Amino acid sequence: MGFSADVAEKALLDCGRSCCICHRFRGMKTELHHIIQKSEGGADTYDNCIPLCFDCHAEVKAYNPKHPKGRQYTNSELKQHRDRWYNKVRNNQFITTTPEHMELDRKLFITIRKMLPSNNSILFLRKHDFAGSSFALEYLEDLKNFNNVCEFPEFEFIDADLETLRANLDHCIFSFLIEIGRNTFPEDSNDGKVRNRIPQEWKHKQWERFWDAADKINELAKEVVSSYNQLIQQGRRKLGVE
Ligand SMILES: [Zn+2]
Repeated sequence: MGFSADVAEKALLDCGRSCCICHRFRGMKTELHHIIQKSEGGADTYDNCIPLCFDCHAEVKAYNPKHPKGRQYTNSELKQHRDRWYNKVRNNQFITTTPEHMELDRKLFITIRKMLPSNNSILFLRKHDFAGSSFALEYLEDLKNFNNVCEFPEFEFIDADLETLRANLDHCIFSFLIEIGRNTFPEDSNDGKVRNRIPQEWKHKQWERFWDAADKINELAKEVVSSYNQLIQQGRRKLGVE
């Protein structure tokens, strides 16, 4: 037996179908995790349930106490993540945001716009075809910086809708950079800049590998741009910021 339909419905409503750890909106892909495992006597109750995305769920479950790597999420930490997120979603529904909170969100939004202006790496991603010419790695520098600062707790919107969009953008950028690291390599250049590209010899000798990589990177670049657009549009609308 898993969670009853009532428990599942209540939990999914309370989290707004976003992950309680990384805050991405996951819709139908939201999973319900037992905080105390069933094998350890955990019950199918609302209090023992935390909605997670697939990635965070895998990470929470993967920890093996016999071979500890990294730091395990404790049960009370999971509950705190969940309760904080439920609160944020609830506050959004009842519009209890104070002017001070709006101001904090406004500051964060302006910082993000400065870090990721639409005319730098975002413009590059909009235009570049990764099956084509090589590109200077420095174009991706601000994406890396954004990814790094998203780890800081102050990089969290008070507003739940904006927070899910920020988390989604962070995740899209992360997946894009992983794929760039996996499938593009430095080329000799004459201007002293590091330029990367999907190896041209794959095109001749490993045709499928080349196009798999190019399609995937182009697709992820598109997702970065569209999640960026969503955050900027919503932020301007909600916060009244240029
Ligand atoms: Zn997650």
